[in-house]
Amino acid sequence: MNFSNYLNILGLRRGFNIIVHSSFSKIKNAFPDLTPEESISALKDIVTEEGSIIFPAFTYCFKTTSGDYEVFDNANSKSKVGMLSERFRISEGVIRTSSPTHSFALWGKIINDIDESNSPESPLGKKSVMEWLTNNPESFVLILGTDFSSLTYGHYLEIEASVPWYNHSPWNYMNVLPIGVSIKGEHRLKEIPGCAKGFVNFEKYLLENNLIKKCEYKSFSSYFINVKLLYNEGLIYFSNYYENLLCGKNTCPACDSRRRKFL
Ligand SMILES: [Zn+2]
Repeated sequence: MNFSNYLNILGLRRGFNIIVHSSFSKIKNAFPDLTPEESISALKDIVTEEGSIIFPAFTYCFKTTSGDYEVFDNANSKSKVGMLSERFRISEGVIRTSSPTHSFALWGKIINDIDESNSPESPLGKKSVMEWLTNNPESFVLILGTDFSSLTYGHYLEIEASVPWYNHSPWNYMNVLPIGVSIKGEHRLKEIPGCAKGFVNFEKYLLENNLIKKCEYKSFSSYFINVKLLYNEGLIYFSNYYENLLCGKNTCPACDSRRRKFL
């Protein structure tokens, strides 16, 4: 089986809108000869420009009180969320949005609606790429070799379900201010995404209730999940079991700060 066949078996089709979270080293477990460029071409060939491919290309360029921070440069700042994300960002036909903290690399149909200037004050909330995915049919999350700790959409669900801490930044202990910094200036932010490690409990819940299926092939595991399902089930889970979205007590300063204030 080659990587394209694998994507077809997962359910990927022409015209779909997908956001991809990936670990290229895990993909290599199953497809040792595959290059990053071939992976990206396989995705583009299947989806075509009738659909959309989205990779997070986050750089986390927050202003800090200590004055020690990086400044976002749309053209040159490398993605900090994986090798495939960075290779995709610089591949043909891809544009990048302008959030200094949470930019996205985009290809295909979505570019008609969201352009390079996109930099909402809620980087993963209203007017973000997450909202676009929610409002467009045939949108999917493709997880290749990672788990829900990389589920960017979970932060959108935190806002939509209004979990108690949705507009509280947990990064004060790292001197982070609610401001993104780019070479074009400073962007004031609200609804700063926090720690995502606890999203694995949402993953467990979906698996246990047979709402999603994990595909395993040669010690490489994947998910292909409809955004509509994630939204509907996410609102239920995030509204009712939000305390499960925090890391264990005394294991994570960010989650501890939320626990102290809201639980
Ligand atoms: Zn945490």
